[in-house]
Amino acid sequence: MLEDDYRLFNCQRCQRQVRICRHCDCGNVYCSDDCSRLGRRESVRSAGARYQRTRRGARFHAARQSVWRERQRQKVTHHRFPTEALAAKVVTEVIREIGDDDVLDSPARNVVRCDFCRRPLAPFARLAPVRRPHRVATHPLRTGWF
Ligand SMILES: [Zn+2]
Ligand SMILES: [Zn+2]
Repeated sequence: MLEDDYRLFNCQRCQRQVRICRHCDCGNVYCSDDCSRLGRRESVRSAGARYQRTRRGARFHAARQSVWRERQRQKVTHHRFPTEALAAKVVTEVIREIGDDDVLDSPARNVVRCDFCRRPLAPFARLAPVRRPHRVATHPLRTGWF
C-alpha cells in the first residue's frame, strides 16, 4: 500500500500546479528547490523596492520593521529545506527497494504521483497542509506579491 493522500497547490512563483504527499509536505509553497530559491530572492527584491517607496516620515520605521520581519522569516524557513530534501531522498529509496511492480500492475489511468518524491498518491487531495510551519503559514500568500 503505497497510496497516500496529498495536497494540491500552485507554486507561489511559477504557478505550476503541484501535488505534494504528506511525507514531503512542510507547508511548501514552491514546486521545486529552484523556485523556492528564486522565489525567495524575488521577495527580497520586492521588499527592497517597498523600502525605497515608503522611506520617509513615520513610514520609515514601518518599512524597517517589515524588512526585519522578512529577514526573520527567511531565517526560519531557511532551515526547513535540508531536512525536507533528506526526507524526500529517504522516501525515494524506500520506494526503489519495494520496486515499481505494484504500481505497474495497477491500472495506470488514475495514478498520480507526488511531485517531490514520486510516491504514488491516493486519488483524493487535501487543500490544506497537514502540519503548519510556525509563523510562515499564517499569511501564505502575503509574501512575494506585494
Ligand atoms: Zn515553481
Ligand atoms: Zn512526496
